[in-house]
Amino acid sequence: MHDFVRELYPLCRSITGEGLRITLSAAGRRLEGFEVRSVPSGTRVNDWEVPDEWNIRDAFVADVHGDRVIDFKRHNLHVVNYSTPVRRRVTRDELIEHVHTLPDRPGLIPYRTTYYDRTWGFCLEHERLPELTEPEYDVVIDATLEPGELNYGELVVPGAMEREVLISTHVCHPSLANDNLSGVALAVWLAQYVLGLEGRRYTYRFLFIPGTIGAITWLSLNPAAISRTLGGLVVALVGAPGPFHYKATSVGDARIDRVVRRTLGTRGAEFVERPFHPYGYDERQYNSPGYRLPIGSLTRTPHGEFPEYHTSADNLDLVKAETLGESLDVFTEIVRRFESERVVRSRYPFGEPQLGRRGLYDRLGGAGATDRRMAMLWVLNQADGDHSVDDIAERSGLSREAIDAAATILADAGVVTEV
Ligand code: ZN
Repeated sequence: MHDFVRELYPLCRSITGEGLRITLSAAGRRLEGFEVRSVPSGTRVNDWEVPDEWNIRDAFVADVHGDRVIDFKRHNLHVVNYSTPVRRRVTRDELIEHVHTLPDRPGLIPYRTTYYDRTWGFCLEHERLPELTEPEYDVVIDATLEPGELNYGELVVPGAMEREVLISTHVCHPSLANDNLSGVALAVWLAQYVLGLEGRRYTYRFLFIPGTIGAITWLSLNPAAISRTLGGLVVALVGAPGPFHYKATSVGDARIDRVVRRTLGTRGAEFVERPFHPYGYDERQYNSPGYRLPIGSLTRTPHGEFPEYHTSADNLDLVKAETLGESLDVFTEIVRRFESERVVRSRYPFGEPQLGRRGLYDRLGGAGATDRRMAMLWVLNQADGDHSVDDIAERSGLSREAIDAAATILADAGVVTEV
């Protein structure tokens, strides 16, 4: 996984363009069945429109002697992502208006974008600003911003059921390793794990999408898949050390929320759960009111909460192979729980079924009868196909064994069916 991050790190990705396509094909080479989708610029997607495609070949600020003082070829963060093409001589003052720095972290190049505002800019280590002493500079951004396409990657791994688990990761950042190449690597390796699972119950859908516009595009074009989605996760920031942070779904008590809590809760390591809030990554699109897909977000240290975030320090040293591996273990455990936890669905969900007629009360006598009756009532109440035996045990406070036994009695009597 770390080699994969290293391979893709130098590319100048964006929400469209060649760097994104090369990244998607690198993922596709490792995943049988992976498809790269193309949506033309100008396509209406809900309240948005697919933007023109951006491609960049070179960019620099040079002094009048032709010496490059800011150079895209040294680091692609030096150019504001999605800058319009420019080629002219500017005064130092005009240049400075287009230069972004981080005064509080003077040694780092910031990451800036201008997707929906047509302008240009450069990013520079703040400590290098005093080097810009000449009265005039030549500014060149050799880029194109014209009709093309938006691309995203999609892999559907079918299971016995149509119900889908969605794993989504953004794939639009240039030379930044933890955000977002760690997420891309994890999604590729998790997909390989899922492809290798025999007798899958659920269908899994992996999305490798440009942030915001990619999620909105996918949501706009895939109403059928949306209706089959049971829940899922946005994957990001899984390569740098730090405790796991789980941001719950908008409903807060979806199957994915419970499975992630159990997975993190049984590891014995520190983890943090936060309620849903409408900021962050694409979980905000999936959880929007027209969809309300129960998609949580699982990261290590969240965005904006580590000093390297969105700077040149988010590099190949920040991301550790060991951390990537540990993160992958957690995600595969989540899939394993989805696959292995017992789930039953009531065949008589409209009110309680009549237990006496089926002789089920007869089997509840003796010591512990009250608990056994309550276990049965809990199973009947929660047997909507989205609650596992583990979920019902947690909710009821009864033992997993008691719930499991009640589910078996009800299944034998034909009152519930195994999902
Ligand atoms: Zn980011």
